Amino acid sequence: MTSPYTNIVILTGAGISAESGIQTFRAVDGLWENCRVEDVATPEGFAADPDFVQDFYNQRRSKLQEITIQPNAAHLALGELEARFSGSLTIITQNIDDLHERGGNTNVIHMHGELLKARCSASEEVVEHKGDIVTGDLCSCCKTPAQLRPHIVWFGETPLKMDVIELAIEKADLFVAIGTSGNVYPAAGFVQAAKMYGAHTLEINLEPSAAENQFEEKRYGKASVEVPALVVELLASE
Ligand code: NAD
Repeated sequence: MTSPYTNIVILTGAGISAESGIQTFRAVDGLWENCRVEDVATPEGFAADPDFVQDFYNQRRSKLQEITIQPNAAHLALGELEARFSGSLTIITQNIDDLHERGGNTNVIHMHGELLKARCSASEEVVEHKGDIVTGDLCSCCKTPAQLRPHIVWFGETPLKMDVIELAIEKADLFVAIGTSGNVYPAAGFVQAAKMYGAHTLEINLEPSAAENQFEEKRYGKASVEVPALVVELLASE
């Protein structure tokens, strides 16, 4: 039997990394790791207290590299899907961690940036950066070196690679959203676009998300259980 799909697009959110020990972003009380989102995830918050914001991401960056933080069964299943699926697979992630890459995926679009990279605040050049960033750490790309900042898209900034994302969604015949609350736009609107272009749409989450009524198919449970089961189904028809 051949797979009914040739272009799969998967949107992931903080829920896929929850079972790896990374806290999700709690939309209900607006706190992320006990900090106010406006303080640590907006350009205004960074301008008001750069040391506090750098420290917040330094802690997250350091934790991500602890031995206990590893890709879980959901990340590994998506890695296997990429290795064995004969069509194309694009992962669009809102996550800033590198667990998809460590799970074996190579075609990953980090629309909200990456924790293990730093960006020059003047030229926007991005470099690998695994250690802390502090006020006074300067880039090496500008004539007058400028302050480095976390390579994170904060609220009010434009998500990355939207042109590539739009093309992938246009071609998708299967669109799956995994572990995302459907509260953060533009990602929350991707399901509508995918449906409009004719994709089958599937939500995998612990509970119905805010975008739940946009999906044709829904599976509720842990990503570590539901995602491997989906991958088995998709590969069975290869
Ligand atoms: P969110 O925290 O708003 O929503 C997470 C969703 O995942 C919820 O709907 C929840 O029910 C679900 N969930 C939790 N545990 C799950 C599990 N084990 N299996 C399946 N589903 C599970 O996350 P979001 O929608 O991605 O939006 C939050 C924003 O915060 C994003 O912009 C993202 O960049 C950022 N963020 C990223 C990380 C990360 O990189 N891992 C962590 C926290 C926040």
